[in-house]
Order: sequence, then C-alpha cells, then structure tokens
Amino acid sequence: MSIPLVDLGAAYARQRVDIDAAIAEVIGSAQFINGPQVAQFEAEFARFCGARHAIGVGSGTAAVHLALAALGIGPGDVVAVPAHTFIATVEPITWLGATPRFVDVDPATGCLDPEALKTVIDGVRAVVPVHLYGGLADLAAIAEIADAAGVPVVEDAAQAHGAQYTGPDGTARRAGTYARAGCFSFYPGKNLGAFGDAGAVTTDDDRLAQTVRMLRDHGRVAKYEHLVVGYAHRLDTLQAAVLRAKLGGLDAANERRRSLAQRYSRLLAGVGDLALPAEPPGRRGVHHLYVVRTAHRDELLAYLRGRGIGAGVHYPVPIHRQPAYAHLGVPAGALPAAEAWARECLSLPLYPELTEEQLARVTSTVTAFFETAG
Ligand SMILES: *Cc1c(COP(=O)(O)O)cnc(C)c1O
Repeated sequence: MSIPLVDLGAAYARQRVDIDAAIAEVIGSAQFINGPQVAQFEAEFARFCGARHAIGVGSGTAAVHLALAALGIGPGDVVAVPAHTFIATVEPITWLGATPRFVDVDPATGCLDPEALKTVIDGVRAVVPVHLYGGLADLAAIAEIADAAGVPVVEDAAQAHGAQYTGPDGTARRAGTYARAGCFSFYPGKNLGAFGDAGAVTTDDDRLAQTVRMLRDHGRVAKYEHLVVGYAHRLDTLQAAVLRAKLGGLDAANERRRSLAQRYSRLLAGVGDLALPAEPPGRRGVHHLYVVRTAHRDELLAYLRGRGIGAGVHYPVPIHRQPAYAHLGVPAGALPAAEAWARECLSLPLYPELTEEQLARVTSTVTAFFETAG
C-alpha cells in the first residue's frame, strides 16, 4: 500500500521488451566502449532537444565539468551558480580550480534570480543556471546580464529534458538549447534515466562540441594521439542503448507528469499553508519533481512517511551552507530565498506510472495532516 517517491520498476515493466532487446544487442556485439549506439543516441537526443550537437558523457556531473572545461574555465575564475541546487552543479567548478559564487534564487521558482545575479556579476567568468525540478530558469533575463558582461551561460538541464522556454523573440526552445551549452543527467531517477550513470552536453557551437568530444575521451584526436590532458567521461554503449529504447516514450511520459502535477495543484489548492509550484508565462516545465512549500515541512514529512508515502526533500541544505563549501565563508542568512527553500520544500511522489488513486491518497493524507496535526 505504500507509495514511493519514484518507481523505476514500474517504468521498466512498461518498456521491458524494447530495453531487454537493446541490451542484448550490445552484449552480442561486445562493443561496450564507443559502440554505434552512442552516436545513434547522440543524434536522436540532439534532435529531441533541437540542438546541433549532443555529446554523450559519463554523468550529468561530467557534463557540467566538460562544458565548463571546454569554455576554458580554470584556476582563478569565478562561476555564478544558484545556492539552491544539487551539489553536482557546483563541484566541477571546484575541480577546475575555479571558485563558485553562490547566487540567491527566485522565491517563486527556486531558480537563479536574475536580480541577484546582476548584483554579483562583476568578475564572473560564466553563469550556470539550473532548471530546478523540471521548471525553467529565467533564461532571457539571465542571458541579458551575462551577455552584457561578455560571459557564457551553461544550462544545468539535468532535471529538465524536454522542458520548453519561449523567449521574448517568441521562439520556443527546449531546455539546454538557449544558452551556449546544456548539461543533462540520465541518472536512473531523472525524466530520461539510464540503468546507471550517464549524461550529455548539448550545444549549437561546432568548436565547443569538438572540444567536449575530445575532452571526454582522454583528450584524444586519434587512438594514441592526445592533444590535451582530458578525462575519462565517456558514455557507456549499454547506457546509450537503454536511453535509445526509452527516448521515444519521453514526450508522452513528460505529458503524463504535467497532467499529474496539474491534478496535484487542483487538489491541494488552499490546503494549509502550502505554496504550490509556480510556472511563469512562457515556461513549460516537465515536472521532474512536484515540490510544495510549507512552514511545517519536517512534521508533514514525518506524517507522510509514517503513512507509507515516500515524500522527499530536494534539497535540505543550500550549497553555501554545506560543510564541503564552509571554506568559502558565506554566512547563514546571506542568501535568504535559497535558505527558505531548503527549510520549507517537500517533494511529493511523482512519476508517469503514478495512478490517480495513488495521487488522491497522497493529497487526502496531506489534507488530513493540516486538519489534525497542522
Ligand atoms: C542529477 C543532477 C546533476 C548530476 O547528474 P549526475 O548524472 O547524477 O551526475 C546535476 N545537476 C542537477 C540539478 C541534478 O539534478
């Protein structure tokens, strides 16, 4: 009777025949590294996003690492990132010898706040907005500030495969194609998930694509010719085959997430002190997570878990308050909107196979919490 936060088993059951055949084909060919499925998936994912290039890499973290490395980010550089995100947005900046500059987020969306970015853009060498929970950051406003400063934007689209952003020019673009580069994760629980670690970088820039390709595979330009010191950040053939089998169902799965999210929002409107997800005009998200806010977060979380409902928190500690980044000395209270999100956010179960009945049980349990405990 319990309802998990995500249900990967249910997703596999739906696509089992195609996925098993794809895996068997790779095993039969024994081309586990750089097999033909890698380039095939890259072409198909580029087409899905509407990008000139997609370069398969080992993980979403590797995608951020390679995009920033290919843009020449290095020691002494400063890179602006939202403080409310998963730490993988930030670690690659540190690996490259650069320093993250944590920026506060929009109270309504949890994404990088352009107004806050404007006040800290001096000295920044790149900006990495995050399309959090499958919603979109305010790309046009962010790009305007970055363009004026002459620095590139790299989208962390790890949670936003297929999300759509309509800019002031009226053109609709998918996540990962508005800025210089987009970074995707195919971590198993993401909207498009592999059976292990996998990721991709998207870009329309031919030279940047070529550099990412070289860097992901030991700085190689031929089998034993290494132009630069690169990385071991390739996409596995097996993962590419799994991703190809799943990509065709992604748009329908995203639509199902949208419809479930709208149902959540109808059933939870006006319940307790809940703040429901916001979608500003021109942005069409893919609801990687359904995240509400409440001042009673910890009590509601315990109440739901006690009743078999797998609620979660993404993310309980903003990155500037993580021990790993204590050395930067950003004090508590410095980024109040990010800190409020971390204190109040709660993710309810959401995945394409969630049934209307399961969803209704979640919303009635949330409602009961506010009527009794809240
Ligand atoms: C999942 C995720 C990443 C990292 O992706 P991995 O594939 O796990 O390395 C980066 N940024 C965000 C926002 C993510 O959600």
